[in-house]
Amino acid sequence: MNFSDLALAEPIARAIADKGYDTPSPIQQAAIPPALAGNDVLGLAQTGTGKTAAFALPILNRLAANPKHRLKLSTRVLVLAPTRELAAQIAASFTAYGRYLKLSVACVFGGVPIGRQERALFPGVDVLVATPGRLLDLVMKGACDLGHVEMLVLDECDQMLDLGFVHDLKRITGLLPKQRQSMLFSATLPPAIEELAQRYLKNPVKVAVKPAATTAERVVQSVIHVSQPEKLALLAHLLVDEDVASTIVFTRTKHGADRVVRQLSAHKIAAEAIHGNRSQAQRTRALTAFRSGEIKVLVATDIAARGLDIPAVSHIFNYELPNVPEQYVHRIGRTARAGREGRAIALCAPDERPYLKDIERLIRMPLDQQPLPANFRDLVGLTAKLIKSSPSAAEPPREERNFNRGPSGRGRDPRAVVHADGRGPRREGGGGRDGGREAARDGARREGGFGRPEGARPQGPRPQGARPQGRPGGGFGGQRGSGQRRSPAGR
Ligand code: AMP
Repeated sequence: MNFSDLALAEPIARAIADKGYDTPSPIQQAAIPPALAGNDVLGLAQTGTGKTAAFALPILNRLAANPKHRLKLSTRVLVLAPTRELAAQIAASFTAYGRYLKLSVACVFGGVPIGRQERALFPGVDVLVATPGRLLDLVMKGACDLGHVEMLVLDECDQMLDLGFVHDLKRITGLLPKQRQSMLFSATLPPAIEELAQRYLKNPVKVAVKPAATTAERVVQSVIHVSQPEKLALLAHLLVDEDVASTIVFTRTKHGADRVVRQLSAHKIAAEAIHGNRSQAQRTRALTAFRSGEIKVLVATDIAARGLDIPAVSHIFNYELPNVPEQYVHRIGRTARAGREGRAIALCAPDERPYLKDIERLIRMPLDQQPLPANFRDLVGLTAKLIKSSPSAAEPPREERNFNRGPSGRGRDPRAVVHADGRGPRREGGGGRDGGREAARDGARREGGFGRPEGARPQGPRPQGARPQGRPGGGFGGQRGSGQRRSPAGR
């Protein structure tokens, strides 16, 4: 099949040609025809499969075929996404695919001032991409009327449930017209998602692409066994030795991410952290610097494991292994995108071996074992010296580590607005009304504090035989299934 078989409107076909796409990806081949015909769609796919275009192209086509005057405060299309970055990315895709159509695309999310978003929505828009918390705030302020939505997309639905958005979703869908087209996309299909699908979709056409466990085939994966305190020395060495062009280093905790950034700076390696405790302005700045190549190391918690589409990531370092094996697949899926090659190296401490076993069982292969470098002891000694002599590598006071957004959740730097057309951060006065709420939803609230893992709850079946061995409940939030996470001993 190629794009001309889909008979998309000429301006959309032209925009796709501009993007350099020749053939629709499998999820696009499966989802676009039924969506164009007006059916509800239940899509089982994750980012990296071309999922965004799978819903955006038919939506744009339907808008183009049936132009209407915009109604004040209204939108014809509503796309809900779990995180700010993903929302911005989806809005940018709509803008790119719809560039030859005269459409208005808006994107709203928390952590930034609400006034600009109210102004953007006032004249009415064609497509609104939103995170649920901020959308409800706008609705409650009377700045947004959902009574004219014709098409709804719930994207990364399993992650939305994970982040505690289920009640917000219920409230939002209660405000939508019953007569509408709905599409729901999720990487996994646990019973909770099936239930949502039954509630929100009418006779959906179900489409699925390869399960998460087999999507990262082009990534060359290996593991190095190393003790936790020696990981930084190894990472600093590998960043140079492996000729790393651009990498995401994943940690389990927000504090861990900040510590890696500080300690790399002692090695004169510039890095930025992205996690749920950072203000939106800081997150936007970090991502922009990374995308532009200004910094080549992004240190992230699992909040960044899903959704982000940064084509040029050459390496993924699992500095700390995820305690949920599916998360490993999401993490390494940030490399080898768009046909490129990618490397994923896991640094495995002795107490993380059970996690490694779970991962190997899920991906159905053992990771290649890479030896430690020959001069490793010298490197460890050098790292210890560098960190000791670098004031910037020192641990900050505990309260600063935990609350660098500020307790109001407004963030210290409420300046960034990510525009749907990809324009970068802008100065803007005033504080965000619901920054804290959105930050909490984006990961902070669930952990309840310092040192706990950040990221999505596992969905879907556990790999066979992978029984949890951690402490009961794993020390994670009360509503989690205690059997689904592990907590390494002594952490
Ligand atoms: P997504 O899964 O929507 O995040 O898309 C992943 C990446 O694939 C994005 O960089 C898209 O621009 C790209 N992409 C989507 N559809 C196609 C296609 N048919 N051909 C080539 N690249 C595509």
